[in-house]
Parts: sequence; structure tokens; C-alpha cells
Amino acid sequence: MGFIEDELEEVKKLCEHLVQGCRLVTCVKSMVRVEIKKTVTKCIVVCLQFPEDYPSSIILIELKSKTLSDKLLNKLTVACEQDLKKQFGKPQILKAVQYINNFISENPLCSCYDEIAQIKKEICERDTIKLKQKTSTIHLKLVEGNYFIKVKLLIPDEYPSQSVGIEASSNFPPNMERFLVGQAKESARKCVEPPLRLPPGKTFCPLPSLLPCAHFFISAVRVLPRQHCQLCKRTGLPTDPEDAQTSESASDHVERLYCNHLFHLDCLITYMKTPPFEGGKKCPDCGERIYHDKWRISDKMAEARWAHQEARKRELEDVAQAFL
Ligand SMILES: [Zn+2]
Ligand SMILES: [Zn+2]
Repeated sequence: MGFIEDELEEVKKLCEHLVQGCRLVTCVKSMVRVEIKKTVTKCIVVCLQFPEDYPSSIILIELKSKTLSDKLLNKLTVACEQDLKKQFGKPQILKAVQYINNFISENPLCSCYDEIAQIKKEICERDTIKLKQKTSTIHLKLVEGNYFIKVKLLIPDEYPSQSVGIEASSNFPPNMERFLVGQAKESARKCVEPPLRLPPGKTFCPLPSLLPCAHFFISAVRVLPRQHCQLCKRTGLPTDPEDAQTSESASDHVERLYCNHLFHLDCLITYMKTPPFEGGKKCPDCGERIYHDKWRISDKMAEARWAHQEARKRELEDVAQAFL
């Protein structure tokens, strides 16, 4: 038998044993096709064709995947071809399949290759991004002024059907850090869980959650240290994070509304106690109704309190007048 026939026989015998989770779909002289399936999303089809002067030149490789990025597949093809140069004159198919299989196993972050490239474009020089393939995590440090947040993003095996895992530490006040992490988790959750009311006839398909989550962190961290109080117009957070008020009942504690605008606690109380009350108090910046955990009284109660305070003030003024 010829060289190619011998190699095809060897491939038929060994391929599925050597590479776990692979399936030999086609194995004839015109085409060898192997499917490698690591997880639902990490699937790759390796198509191999013998060139005329095989094995003196490299076997022709074409990689296909419905879930992995084309850019990644192109790079992987080049890297595999490079590796096969050691195999000139020798059988190459099993080596190629093993190389590609090892790459997918050892690089779990390959399932979000394009998203990582986009994050790298969006961060600044002072920020850092580190990829840890061994733990399937992305370590992002975002810096703005004297503030920073370190975010550890875990890419699960079933990504993107499962959302990215989020852990963070920062030098923002605790309520701001809770907000940052909470909102990021929420944006990731929305990518993989169908909305409660799905329009009839529509089916939900999970979306990649890494980029939306990173986007949120990047944009929020840029803005947060410069945001001002909606009433007194002073910057909410101090320049030095050490000076930030961490006591949540202190008058200068910085409160965040659901619309994302800021108030000092005292400024919020003053604003909520001041008319107009009709239709509920609205954010001076965006006009959205103010909802805040520390402020749950109704419009009517606010109005009654206001009227009562005004009456009391007039009384006091009258008393003061009487003494003049
Ligand atoms: Zn204020
Ligand atoms: Zn607002």
C-alpha cells in the first residue's frame, strides 16, 4: 500500500483512542474529517486534505466551528501548520488532530476570544488585563484617578450558555462596590436567562455575557469618581479614597439612586422633603422617579410632613416676631 493509504488505516485505528471526545467522520483519500467536541460550545471540525506532494509538504487544514471565533480558527490553523513542519516526510493527520485538541483543552478562554480582543481595545493604558488559561479566568484592573477595582471574571465550561462568574475588590466605598458588582452580575444574568415576559413566538437564545459585563465595569469606573451630588453639586466621592465616608448613616455618605445619579444622604433628605411632591420626587438630572431604600414614604406622607414642618416654622417665626 502507498504512504497515504497506510496513514489512513492508522488514523482509522487510532484517532478516536488517542484524542478523547473526537469522532472520525470521514477518512478517505480525498478528505479526512474529524469532529472534536469538548463542551457544547467548544466544538471544532478539522478538515484535512492531502496536497499533491504529501508528505513532503504540509497537509491542508481547514477548521470550522459554529461557536468559536473565525479569527481564533485562522490563528490556530497557522500555529498548527507551523507545528507540522517538524513532520515533513512523516504522517501528519494524528499530529494535527492532537495539536488542535490540546489547544482547546489548554485554552478554555478560547470560547470568548473576540470578546477579550474587544475588551483590550476598550481599556486604557493605566488599566491591566491578564488572562489565566489554567483557571479559565480574566483578571481586569480598572483605574480612575485614585480609585481602582480588580475584577476576576471566570469563564465556565458551558460559556456562553452559562454566564461569566464575577468577583471583585476595590477601594470604592462598600455601597459603591456593592452597586458595581450587583449591576455587573445583573447584566451577565440577563444575557443567559430569558426575560419573564418573552414575546409570543420568540425563543430565547443565551448571549455571551463577558463583554456586557466588562463594558459596564469600564464605563461605571470612568464616571463614578467624577459624579456630583444632584443637590449641592459637589463631587460625591472624595479625591482620596481614604477620605470616603463609609458610615451609611453619616450625613455626607454618598447615596446612589436607581437611575445611577448621586446624592449625599443629607442632600437627599432635604430634596425629598422639599416640594413639589406631585407624582413622586424625580431625579433633577434625568427626571426619573426617585426610589431609594432609605426613603420609602409615600407622596402624601411627604406632603403632610412638609405642611407640618412649614406650619411649625411659621409658628416659630410668629413667636420670634412677638419678641421683637
Ligand atoms: Zn450634596
Ligand atoms: Zn437620575
